[in-house]
Amino acid sequence: MDDRQREIPEGGLFMKDGFIDQVGPSSELPETADEVLDLKNYIVFPGLVNTHHHFYQTLTRAIPAAQDANLFTWLKTLYPIWARMTAEDIFISTQTALSELALSGCTTASDHLYLFPNGSKLDDEIFAAMEIGLRIQASRGSMSLGESKGGLPPDSVVENEDSILKDSQRLIQEYHDPKPGAKVQIVLAPCSPFSVTGELMKQSAGLAREYGVHLHTHLAETEDEEQFCLEKFGHRPVGYMQEVGWMGADVWFAHAVWVNDEEIQTFAKNRCGVAHCPSSNMRLASGIAPVMRYRAADVNVGLGVDGSASNDGSHLLAEVRQAMLLARVNEGIHGYSLSNDVNRKLMTARETLYLGTRGGAAVLGRGDIGSLEIGKCADFFAINLNRFEFAGAQLDPVSAAVFCQPVNVDYTVVGGKFVVKDGRIFTVDHPKLIEKHNKAAKRLSQV
Ligand SMILES: [Zn+2]
Repeated sequence: MDDRQREIPEGGLFMKDGFIDQVGPSSELPETADEVLDLKNYIVFPGLVNTHHHFYQTLTRAIPAAQDANLFTWLKTLYPIWARMTAEDIFISTQTALSELALSGCTTASDHLYLFPNGSKLDDEIFAAMEIGLRIQASRGSMSLGESKGGLPPDSVVENEDSILKDSQRLIQEYHDPKPGAKVQIVLAPCSPFSVTGELMKQSAGLAREYGVHLHTHLAETEDEEQFCLEKFGHRPVGYMQEVGWMGADVWFAHAVWVNDEEIQTFAKNRCGVAHCPSSNMRLASGIAPVMRYRAADVNVGLGVDGSASNDGSHLLAEVRQAMLLARVNEGIHGYSLSNDVNRKLMTARETLYLGTRGGAAVLGRGDIGSLEIGKCADFFAINLNRFEFAGAQLDPVSAAVFCQPVNVDYTVVGGKFVVKDGRIFTVDHPKLIEKHNKAAKRLSQV
């Protein structure tokens, strides 16, 4: 995933102090090191970058009452359950989601936590992430527009805007690390047009820019959100973002499904990024994001697993595959099989891998991750090619990792440290974690 898109047979990495020191054919690398990992017969990829998630939702996966509903109904079913979460629940669910992500090749994950019931804080997520070892873009989400003011969430889960801003500032000061190799960065992330006020959007943007942190929100996810924005603000979602000052390379939007050509150009001109979440968009019947058109307009696009109550998994390599397949569905809908245009190509496995690595890094504004190059973070994952899933696919192992059944990876290394080793999560006692997680999920769903 370097600028030349090199693929190095018999290649290797030499890493030092958490960064890549040399990359090339193994025969040209130093013969000794403090630790040598022999990955003969494995394929090594740059660590995947997850640009949108709600870790806490791993506690409410496949809830029967929310299985077959659209976004607004799904949210209204789940808000009261989420309102019962504690600090411990945030901690446990973060570790579960990050373990799943690590096992699917992810090394950096953004998370969007936007409700803080019963004294829970973003700190609970950050501490949990530090133990697992993945890099995290922890988004201080927020909701301030409750039902009584015309918003979607019940008043019981919204916060006062002054305390949101105060807590956002505290988190930036306490945790945000702007340096290359950062393990924790803070993002400000009012939840969505239908759950915060325009005033909070503006104030959050002002605060974020004062400290140089990024901004994130859900946008143009569904058609009913578009109607909501037109009725409430007199703008389509993208126009509303322009009005509240949410344009720039420091802004990325989750979903961005319902956009027209002019709005795609607005994103391109302002360097806004998009977190594409194909499984969630399919699961909630939200629609299909125009990823090929974003790419053609040079908009930065990354991938996100979203959820995990709208996916309901955190497998990022599987999401790479979904992105490729859904882009092809979209081409089919728009007459691909009838087209005689030889230049009209389907989205390739390599392109979607790019979205999952360099694309995601660009969306998050991180130049230190996303490729295996000298000076970048020593973040990679490796898959043993001798397995049923890849049997018969030896001609092109890079594509096989996307075209074939998505697998759990054998190694995930972040900053030169193992997070997954020999196919198992290395940094947490996983049977114990699953047990705690299931107990917490059961408690939450009992009314
Ligand atoms: Zn989301």
